Amino acid sequence: MSASQQEPWTVLRLLEWTTDFFKKKGSDSPRLDAEVLLAHARNCTRIELYTAFGEEPGEEQRIAFREMVRRRGEGTPVAQLVGYREFYSLRFRVDDSVLIPRPETEHLVIEALDFAKASGVTDRPLQIADIGTGSGAIAVAVAKNFANCEVTAVDRSASALKIATWNAEQHGVSDRVTFLESDLLAAVDAPAQFDIICTNPPYVSDSEYDELSPTVRDHEPKTALVSGPLGTEIIQRIIQEVPPRMHSGGWLIIELSPMIAEACGQIAKDSEHFADQHFIKDLEGHKRILSVQRC
Ligand code: GLN
Repeated sequence: MSASQQEPWTVLRLLEWTTDFFKKKGSDSPRLDAEVLLAHARNCTRIELYTAFGEEPGEEQRIAFREMVRRRGEGTPVAQLVGYREFYSLRFRVDDSVLIPRPETEHLVIEALDFAKASGVTDRPLQIADIGTGSGAIAVAVAKNFANCEVTAVDRSASALKIATWNAEQHGVSDRVTFLESDLLAAVDAPAQFDIICTNPPYVSDSEYDELSPTVRDHEPKTALVSGPLGTEIIQRIIQEVPPRMHSGGWLIIELSPMIAEACGQIAKDSEHFADQHFIKDLEGHKRILSVQRC
């Protein structure tokens, strides 16, 4: 037996071997993936791995870890293997029926909270909608950080709404988030008027979808990602359909891809119902969030 075969499979050695394996498989974050999976198998935090480098995980942990490493190597997202993803410092349950919350979307939550705080509304709960709530990430993060609100979170997918409802319960905001199966706001009672409407809608074009990494394309729901031939179709519908459901002065906050940012800004400019607008850039400096104010 060679020296390397005799070496014990310590936490450090498992991490190094797995990082290298994931790198070869094309992961963007091989070390992080390895740490999250090993921490999950050991039922500890990532930080705790760093004080356990010399320890040898037992048989059961090694088997669980190896199985997750195999599936990650085949493309399954880490979040689906462990069953959750951190978003806005909160843990969200995910499965293959919902989009895995992305860090870019945290910019949208910050923007919504800024508008909520600046609204000056104190005599009633602020009315907020989240269109295409998926895992409930936006609705729950906003409700958790702004108590005086009522959030209406809609999605076309009943299975997504189950996950979102669970996440709202876990984070103790079920009293102020209502989930509803709805195509945009069609199923929301007509008298409801919103101060803020948030949405991270499907905005990938058909051709961009073909180019997505297999980890996304083969494992996350297509209906949460793809809009149509242009990518702007659903955002266009939202800009056209929501004005009657908004308070004057209210904000519509839309996540989009930098590729369609200008086109979507123009769609809002062409609408007689919206006045001010601005973009927020993501950490890579690309236009990622469009906020438009209802006249
Ligand atoms: N609102 C959810 C999120 O931002 C899901 C969005 C979607 O499915 N397009 O993660």
